[in-house]
Amino acid sequence: KLFNELQELKGNIRVYCRVRPFLPGQGASNTVVEHIGEHGELVVLNPTKPGKDGLRKFRFNKVYSPASTQAEVFSDIKPLVRSVLDGYNVCIFAYGQTGSGKTYTMTGPDGASEEEWGVNYRALNDLFKISQSRKSNIAYEVGVQMVEIYNEQVRDLLSGILSTTQQNGLAVPDASMYPVTSTSDVLELMNIGLNNRVVSSTALNERSSRSHSIVTVHVRGKDLKTGSALYGNLHLVDLAGSERVDRSEVTGDRLKEAQHINKSLSALGDVIFSLASKSSHVPYRNSKLTQLLQSSLGGRAKTLMFVQLNPDVISYSESMSTLKFAERVS
Ligand code: ADP
Ligand code: MG
Repeated sequence: KLFNELQELKGNIRVYCRVRPFLPGQGASNTVVEHIGEHGELVVLNPTKPGKDGLRKFRFNKVYSPASTQAEVFSDIKPLVRSVLDGYNVCIFAYGQTGSGKTYTMTGPDGASEEEWGVNYRALNDLFKISQSRKSNIAYEVGVQMVEIYNEQVRDLLSGILSTTQQNGLAVPDASMYPVTSTSDVLELMNIGLNNRVVSSTALNERSSRSHSIVTVHVRGKDLKTGSALYGNLHLVDLAGSERVDRSEVTGDRLKEAQHINKSLSALGDVIFSLASKSSHVPYRNSKLTQLLQSSLGGRAKTLMFVQLNPDVISYSESMSTLKFAERVS
């Protein structure tokens, strides 16, 4: 409750930056991150300008150091996730260049143990568990959808399996929705969705970094006394890689993909920016992604953006453009 009130005062958009660790085999010495403060401060050093002139300071709602764990991250966002049970619509995005840890944050590493689970497993499991255990006169139903957006087209990642629950007009209209009634359903559905992403692509990493994947958790609560219903949904979005593609070097399909990604990421940035700056016009229609999420962006809805950073000096210029994007929407 307190959290909700606090957030309403601050507006409904927050930006959390997460710096991924160096991977085994990479040296830890060449990082661009100079300082991470306890109150969301991040200081980055330009490797070509060592000294005071190369320092750039950013401020977000929170910054996670490379040592932060999946459990830590989830415990911070749990109140946000749970507000779906009170009828809020919530969007959680992971933004950043390929290799910066978007999928790690949202899903976890390949073959993740429970400890390594990312936000989507944890959120789905948490909502399902609470929906079962709440001692109240509200009966909850939890359902899930998974789609990807590739070249501005939506593809259902859970089509043709099991039996669907009733369709609903909200959120992702053309994708199947499956009920979640146990933790093993959570795992099974997530894995089916992930595998469907893999099966359809000739080169896994390529495709997954050039499409947006969206897991949508629907929660319907019915007041058993009055019969009135309450509805909330949570969108968990692993965005396409934000790296800029050199237009002079790519052609054909690659260029088309790059243009679609560019367009949808900047459309998302524009939508969040207009919401953050309380502009009267919010340009939802400029991309499939923002159209799809329109009912969950703005109004009473809550938005959280994880801004992912690869701290390696090699990624400095991509990291700066990621941070500038984040600064604009925060
Ligand atoms: P992206 O989805 O942005 O392309 P990934 O999530 O695939 O990036 O991360 C790239 C690599 O870094 C993967 O091997 C992943 O497991 C690893 N990684 C990312 N973030 C972390 C982290 N916080 N802790 C440990 N390993 C991480
Ligand atoms: Mg990824």
